[in-house]
Amino acid sequence: SKYTKNDIISMIEENNVRFIRLQFTDIFGTLKNVAITTSQIEKALDNKCMFDGSSIEGFVRIEESDMYLRPDFDSFVIFPWHTQHGRVARLICDIYTPDGNPFEGDPRYVLKRALKEAADMGYTFNVGPECEFFLFNTDEFGHPTTITHDTAGYFDLGPSDLGESARRDICLNLEEMGFEIEASHHEVAIAQHEIDFKYSEALSAADNILTFKMVVKSCADSHGLCATFMPKPVYGRDGSGMHTNMSLFKNGENVFYDPKSESGLSQIAYHFIAGIMKHIKGMCALTNPLVNSYKRLVPGYEAPCNIAWTLSNRSALIRVPATRGLGTRVELRNPDSACNPYLELAVLLAAGLDGIKNNLTPPDAVTTNIYDIDEQERKAAGIDALPSDLKNAIDEMKADPFIREVLGDHVFNKYVEAKEKEWYEYSTTVTQWELDQYLNKF
Ligand code: GLU
Ligand code: MG
Ligand code: MG
Repeated sequence: SKYTKNDIISMIEENNVRFIRLQFTDIFGTLKNVAITTSQIEKALDNKCMFDGSSIEGFVRIEESDMYLRPDFDSFVIFPWHTQHGRVARLICDIYTPDGNPFEGDPRYVLKRALKEAADMGYTFNVGPECEFFLFNTDEFGHPTTITHDTAGYFDLGPSDLGESARRDICLNLEEMGFEIEASHHEVAIAQHEIDFKYSEALSAADNILTFKMVVKSCADSHGLCATFMPKPVYGRDGSGMHTNMSLFKNGENVFYDPKSESGLSQIAYHFIAGIMKHIKGMCALTNPLVNSYKRLVPGYEAPCNIAWTLSNRSALIRVPATRGLGTRVELRNPDSACNPYLELAVLLAAGLDGIKNNLTPPDAVTTNIYDIDEQERKAAGIDALPSDLKNAIDEMKADPFIREVLGDHVFNKYVEAKEKEWYEYSTTVTQWELDQYLNKF
C-alpha cells in the first residue's frame, strides 16, 4: 500500500490535523463517520476503534452490535479547508465483527468480494463516473429550494450565476484532495452541472464518488447554495444521472479493445455488455434506488428507458463512446448518484463477468433514436423496457437470484425490506398532484 502507519502519523503531525473522521457507509450509501481526535490515531490504525452498529440502518440487531473499523491506509486524505481548531482528515474503513471477520453488511466488503472474483480471472475493473447535480438557491432559513437564478445551458460559459463560482471552488478543492478533474461543465438544464474525474480501479472509484458528493455539498453550502444529486428534482427538466464508464484491464492492457475487429471492440467487451443487459432489470433497484429515480428514466431527456445498446445514440441504456485503445469503455447510462456506489459496482462487475464466463452475446446495436419508436415497434424489435417504477424494480431484483448471490443474504434482505417500505409509504401518500387534479372535480 501507499502509506504506512508511520506515514499517516507524521502527515497528521506536520499538517496540524486535530480530528480524524473514520468513514464508512450504510447499505444505502449514506456516509457515516466516527470522529476521533488525534490522540486516538494509533488505536484507530491498529484496528481497535469500535462503534455501535445497531444505530445504523441496515446493519445489525442490538444484541450483536459491536463493530470494528479497519482504516484503509491508502484512503488517508486531509481536507483542504481549515477550521478554527486545526485541520480534519479522513480514513475510509472496512467493517469487521468482534471475531475478526469482515462484516457481511458492509457494502465495501460486497464490492471487494466481487473484485476478488475479477482478480482471480486476471482482471482489474476500471470505472469512471460522470456525476450530474443541481445547484439550487436556499431560502431565508438556509433550507434547500428548487429555485435558481441561473440562466445558462449546456456548456455555456459564465459568469452567469453563482453556480459557476461554486463549481470552480468544488473543482479546486477536489484537486487539493488528489482528484484529477478531467472536465467540468454546465449541463443541459438550468442550474445543472457535471464534473468528471479520472477513472480508477473500482474500489477507489466508489470511495471517490462518496467523497465527491460530500465535497460538492459542502462547497455549495459555503456559497449559500444547495447541491442535490436527487435524480429528478424538477418535473419537465432533465434529471441527473451518474453515467458509469467501465472497462476491464489485464496486464496493463484494456481487454475491451481489439484493433482487429471492425468496431474496435473485443469479444470480451461484447460478452460484458450482454451480461449487463441480462441482469439490468434485477440491478435497477440498486443503480436507481429511489421512487424518484424512475421519474428520470422517461423519454426525451437523454436518460434511458429501454434495454438496448449503441455505438453513439444517447437514448440507449449502453453507449460505447468512440475512444479506442486504452480508453475503450462501456458507458452505462441508467445509474443515478443516489445509488450506493459499492453495491452498484459490485453487481455491474459481477453481471459483466457472468456475460464473459457464459460467452453471452448481446443483440445487435441499435442505430436509431429509440425515443422515436413506439411501443409496438419496440416490442417487435425485441427491445425490453427498464422497470417503470421502484416497485417493479424491487420485484425484478427478487426475481433474479444472481443479485442475491452477489450482495449476500444480509444486504439483500435488508435492502429489499427497506425499499418495500419506501415504496409502500410513497404509494399510499396523497400527493399535491392528486389534490390538484381531484379535490374539486369529484
Ligand atoms: N442528464 C442526462 C441523464 O439524465 C444525461 C445527459 C448527458 O448525456 O450527459 O442521464
Ligand atoms: Mg452529462
Ligand atoms: Mg455520459
